[in-house]
Amino acid sequence: MHVPVAIVGAGPSGSLLAWILRLRGIESIVLEARSREYVEQRIRAGVLEQGTVDMLIKAGIGDRLKKEHMYHRGVCIGYRNRHYMLDFEELIGRGVTVYGQQEITRDLLGALAKENHNVIYEAPVVAIEDIDSDRPAVRYEHNGRTHELTADIVAGCDGFHGASRKAMPADVLKAYETVYPFGWLGVLAEAPPSKEVALFSHHENGFALLSMRSPTISRLYLQCAPDEDLSEWSDGRIWDELETRLGAPGWTLERGPILQKEVTPLRSFFSEPMQHGRLFLAGDAAHVVPPTGAKGLNSAVADVSVLSAALIDHFTKGDEALLRRYSDIALERNWQVQRFSWSNTAMYHVYPDRSPFDARMHEAQLRYLIGDRSPQIVYAENHTGLPISHWPEI
Ligand SMILES: Cc1cc2nc3c(=O)[nH]c(=O)nc-3n(C[C@H](O)[C@H](O)[C@H](O)COP(=O)(O)OP(=O)(O)OC[C@H]3O[C@@H](n4cnc5c(N)ncnc54)[C@H](O)[C@@H]3O)c2cc1C
Repeated sequence: MHVPVAIVGAGPSGSLLAWILRLRGIESIVLEARSREYVEQRIRAGVLEQGTVDMLIKAGIGDRLKKEHMYHRGVCIGYRNRHYMLDFEELIGRGVTVYGQQEITRDLLGALAKENHNVIYEAPVVAIEDIDSDRPAVRYEHNGRTHELTADIVAGCDGFHGASRKAMPADVLKAYETVYPFGWLGVLAEAPPSKEVALFSHHENGFALLSMRSPTISRLYLQCAPDEDLSEWSDGRIWDELETRLGAPGWTLERGPILQKEVTPLRSFFSEPMQHGRLFLAGDAAHVVPPTGAKGLNSAVADVSVLSAALIDHFTKGDEALLRRYSDIALERNWQVQRFSWSNTAMYHVYPDRSPFDARMHEAQLRYLIGDRSPQIVYAENHTGLPISHWPEI
């Protein structure tokens, strides 16, 4: 079997790429390791930059998003048990949109299914070969058998643990990584959000974040050890600690049943280049950011915007100019996103191994942010999303 584009992974990057190419009549196959139900129910990101919202609407899959989203005009910062509002709308004229990643995936996979698009679930890719040739081969397992196909282009959209990045030649790929000395204990709770916007709080016990998924569901996080033992965290202890770290005089944290809790270690990871031969990486396959900046999903969409524009030029006009520059263009934006996520992580968290001097410097950075309009504008521009440089013609 030969296809123009083989897409590895049906997460947000893979499913969006397949959908955009489909809109322009470019055939693809999507190979996904997990079942459709599993992918659609995976709860992860929820804060969308304006560029992400614009892309989903432009691609014709924003109807439910337009109806069900929540709009935040800024964020709140907690410091020494006081809350400081950064009003992005007033600072730069745009805010952020809250709509769960699992809803986006449902919208995309539902749209692909409706068109009978070739998405093969429970089909893990085990090898990608001959990427230097004009017919790379993709080997995958399905129903207990190994299958192989060839493609003009392979899009590696299979996340951090996928097979695509590993198919890049070791002497070409450079990896950069920081693993943080802490993780996040995240809970999903059936409780109305206690604020109109997300609350990022720096506290001597550690960072805490209050965010939301809907008017009845809150998403809350506590900085913890990367290997924190969840069995030591009763629901009551979680709520008490959230209240300690997020609290402010006159403000009440709404409590409710905890539906889900997990510990996520935090890392910054980057590999470059994002293309070699006929293999192109997008999203978490190439880069992972700590969730402090809410950038992972948005960066995946920005990559797909450039990659789909380049593939449309390639397949419809025979023009490879943008495709050849894909890695350089995507890397430029992604390094800036990494910088924002990394510096935010440093500013908000308590590091067990940080010198007292460094701790005071990061606190000074936080005080500068809440006290001065200039850094607030820079923060607002980064938080609401850097521009996407190339858009597909759809
Ligand atoms: C626990 C958690 C919480 C997060 N919270 C946030 C947040 O609050 N805000 C934010 O912006 N970002 C968050 N992120 C990051 C965000 O979810 C990712 O950046 C986003 O999912 C990237 O999309 P992707 O399509 O590139 O990769 P993924 O969503 O990882 O999708 C990759 C897909 O490829 C499939 N796959 C893997 N290996 C193979 C293979 N060998 N063959 C075929 N298929 C394969 C996987 O099953 C998956 O469906 C979080 C991530 C995690 C893990």
